[in-house]
Amino acid sequence: MIGSGLNRRGFVKGGVAAAGLAAATPLLAACSGRGSGDTPVAASTTVAASTPVAASERIVIVGAGVAALAAADELRIRGFDDVTLLEARDRIGGRIWTSSIGDGIPVELGATWIHGIRGNPVYEIAESNRIATVGSDYDNAVLYDTDGRRASPVDEGLWPDYMRLAYERPDESLRDVFEEFASANGLDTDDRLLWLNALSSMFEHEFGADLSDVSIMAYDGPSEMRGTDVVFVDGYSQIVDVLAAGVDIRLNHPVARIDHSGPSVEVETQSGSVFTADRVIVTVPLGVLKAGSISFAPALPASLKGAINALDMGILNRTCLLFDDAFWDTDVEWIGYAGTQPGQWSETLNLYPYISQPVLAMFNPGSFGAEIEQYSDSKLADRAVDTLKVIFGDVPEPREVLSTRWGSDPWTRGSYSYLPLGVEFDTYREMSKPVGERLFFAGEATHSRFPSTVHGALLSGRRAARQISGLLG
Ligand SMILES: Cc1cc2nc3c(=O)[nH]c(=O)nc-3n(C[C@H](O)[C@H](O)[C@H](O)COP(=O)(O)OP(=O)(O)OC[C@H]3O[C@@H](n4cnc5c(N)ncnc54)[C@H](O)[C@@H]3O)c2cc1C
Repeated sequence: MIGSGLNRRGFVKGGVAAAGLAAATPLLAACSGRGSGDTPVAASTTVAASTPVAASERIVIVGAGVAALAAADELRIRGFDDVTLLEARDRIGGRIWTSSIGDGIPVELGATWIHGIRGNPVYEIAESNRIATVGSDYDNAVLYDTDGRRASPVDEGLWPDYMRLAYERPDESLRDVFEEFASANGLDTDDRLLWLNALSSMFEHEFGADLSDVSIMAYDGPSEMRGTDVVFVDGYSQIVDVLAAGVDIRLNHPVARIDHSGPSVEVETQSGSVFTADRVIVTVPLGVLKAGSISFAPALPASLKGAINALDMGILNRTCLLFDDAFWDTDVEWIGYAGTQPGQWSETLNLYPYISQPVLAMFNPGSFGAEIEQYSDSKLADRAVDTLKVIFGDVPEPREVLSTRWGSDPWTRGSYSYLPLGVEFDTYREMSKPVGERLFFAGEATHSRFPSTVHGALLSGRRAARQISGLLG
C-alpha cells in the first residue's frame, strides 16, 4: 500500500514475478489481452487525402470524452469532414475533468496520471504540444497507523505468497483469499489491519470495487504501459482541449434513442432533436449503457448486452482540500493511513510537489466511496479533517473543499469499469464489436487491453474510427 514500500502498480508485477508466475502462466496470458486486436498505435500525424466516400459520410459521435474526441481526430485524419459530437454535459472531457479550487488552482476531479509514458499516446500528445507534466512517485510515501503513529509496512516478503494463492484461486474473491493467507501466516489483529489496508490500496483503489467483489483476474497489470507515471502541472484537460480543437461539438445534447434499423441512423436527444447519420460511434460510459439511459432500435445483440451486464463500474471518489498553509511535509507525495476501517480515507495525495499549493486529495473507493456520496459537503469535509487530525493532531479548517460523486453522476454512473469476480477478461472484447455496419462503440470499457484508463479510451476511439474507415475501403 501507500507507504508500504511497494507501489500499487509495481507491486503485483513484482509479487507475481517473485512468485514465479510470469507471463508464461496461462492465467496471466489470458489476462494480458494479447491478440486482442487492440494493439496500441502511435499518434497519427499524416493527414490522408480526403476520399470522396469518406467526405460524403456523415458521422455522429455520442459523447465528448477522450474516446469520442480521439475518434473525431482520427476520422478527420482519414478524410471525414462531416463529424458531429453530441454531449450530454455542459462541458467536454467526461471523466477528464480539471476543475479549480481557491483562486484558480487546477485540481483533477477525474483522471490524474498518465500511466506509463513509454509509447503512451496521451503522453505523445502532451509532448508534442509542450504540455508540462511532472513525475509521480508512489514510493514517496509515509504510512500512519490507527493512532496516528508512523507504521511499518507489511512484510514485503509475504506478498508473493498472497499473490500465488490469489492466482491459484481465480474464482475466489481477493477478500476470501486474504482470510486463507492470514490464517496460514498467523497474522495477528494489527497485522491483519495493515494487510487489509494494503490490499485496499492495491486493489480497491485501483478498481474502485471492494475486495470481496474483485478476483485476481481483474488485475490490470497487463494494461499498464511502460515508463514512469506523470501528472499534469496545469491540468489533464489540456489534452482534451488539443483533441477538441475545430471539432463540431454540441453541448447539452443528451442522447436518449438510437434507431439503426434503416439505411441511415437516427439519433434522438432527450429534447426531441433528431440527428441523422450514416454511422454512429457510441462512447458513453459502461454505467450509462448498463442503466439503459439510451434505447436502441433494434435492441443491441445478446452478446453485447451480456457483456454490458457482466462488466461493472467501480467507484473512486475524491475529496480535495485547500488549506491556507501546508501543515504536512510538502515533499512527501502520499500520506497513507491504515485505520480500523480499511480503505476508508486511507490514501491522501499531497499536490504540493506538483502544483506548489497546499492542497490534499483524499480518496475513497468501492461501497464506502458510494456511501459517502450521500453525505453533505460539510459532513464530507468534517470526515476528511477527522482523519487528518488522527495523523497530524491540530488541523486548521480547510479554506475550500471539493468532492466528487461519480456514482450518482447520470452521465457516467461510476468511475471506471472493472471485471467482477467470475467474469472473463475477454468480455471486454465483446464491447468493442460493431453492430452491423452502422453502429460502433468506443470508450474505456471497450478496450480489452487498457480498460479503465485514458490511454485505453483514446485508443478505442481511434479503433472505432479505423473500423469505419476500413469498411469504406
Ligand atoms: C476519479 C477517477 C480517476 C481516474 N484516474 C485515472 C488516471 O489517473 N489515469 C487514467 O489513465 N485514467 C483514470 N481514470 C479513468 C479515465 O478517466 C477514463 O477511463 C477515461 O477518461 C474515459 O474516457 P471515455 O471517453 O471512455 O469516457 P468519458 O470520459 O466518460 O466520456 C463519455 C462522455 O459521454 C457523455 N455522455 C454520457 N451519456 C450521454 C448521453 N446519453 N448522451 C450524450 N453524451 C453522453 C459523458 O458526459 C461523457 O462526456 C479515472 C477516472 C475517474 C473517474
